[in-house]
Amino acid sequence: MDYQAVLDYIREAVEPKFGKGKVADYIPALAGVDARKFGMAVHTVDGKSYKTGDADEPFSIQSISKLFVLQLVMSHFGDMVWTRVGKEPSGDRFNSMIKLEMEHGVPRNPFINPGALATLDLLMSLKGDTKARIRNYLSFLAMNDTVDADMVVANSELEHASLNRAMAHLMRGYGNVHMDVEELLATYCYQCAMAMSCADLALAGLPLAAGGYSPVHETSVISKSQAKRINAVMLTCGMYDSVGSFAYRVGLPAKSGVGGGILAVVPGKMSVCVWAPELDAFGNSYVGTAALEMFTSLTHTSIF
Ligand code: GLN
Repeated sequence: MDYQAVLDYIREAVEPKFGKGKVADYIPALAGVDARKFGMAVHTVDGKSYKTGDADEPFSIQSISKLFVLQLVMSHFGDMVWTRVGKEPSGDRFNSMIKLEMEHGVPRNPFINPGALATLDLLMSLKGDTKARIRNYLSFLAMNDTVDADMVVANSELEHASLNRAMAHLMRGYGNVHMDVEELLATYCYQCAMAMSCADLALAGLPLAAGGYSPVHETSVISKSQAKRINAVMLTCGMYDSVGSFAYRVGLPAKSGVGGGILAVVPGKMSVCVWAPELDAFGNSYVGTAALEMFTSLTHTSIF
């Protein structure tokens, strides 16, 4: 399969899809991103990489960070994380609180905002600087020392974080958040503001395609069982309340972010990252979803 030709073909084929979504503006610092950006990168478990378009340009990874914080938490605490969050799709927006009170402050899964806050709260119970721990893990996985948070984006989100703040307080009231809420929010906004490129993220996602093993580092970062379980939760919860239609169209475990990135995993074969900032009504990249749909159709890499 000529993956380079496939990526270059997709970059041209998605052209008519631009202009139909909307760049996230509820975080003011994200509103100015060029809506026409498009990048895509692939890393295979046998060491090949391919990229097209703006694949080397860092963008705000936002909720894709939840995938890596979950890995850190699982590698330190194992299955204990499932006492703090569930593993069911929510069927609601990523920032919805509607079920949170009914379910006594236990979020449906680690990928919706309350679930990511509860997961991060657990990580913050470890000694040491949590922000540095997250940044170091991402820069290690991506083999890129320049990976860092964009503090303009982090501060912009922190100033407009009323919903996330309300969720954190609600969970603290139910005993499912233990840290100081403001410290938790600042750390959450920091992890979401990490700036990485498609090429960085495709490399960082590779252990999920290789049973927890990083072929480039020649070491396991999570166990095989943990990689399997994280992929399962990505498949059922990674794309919020359009997870069903994403599975139908693309057929891969994936995690999106409101910066317009989507990281998808082809178990046993490769990881794929796409970036296109315009979002659909569910907060997932509109053009990025179309690109991944083309990718799995052309390369027969859907898991179904
Ligand atoms: N930082 C964003 C928020 O909390 C992340 C949401 C997302 O990428 N879906 O709203």
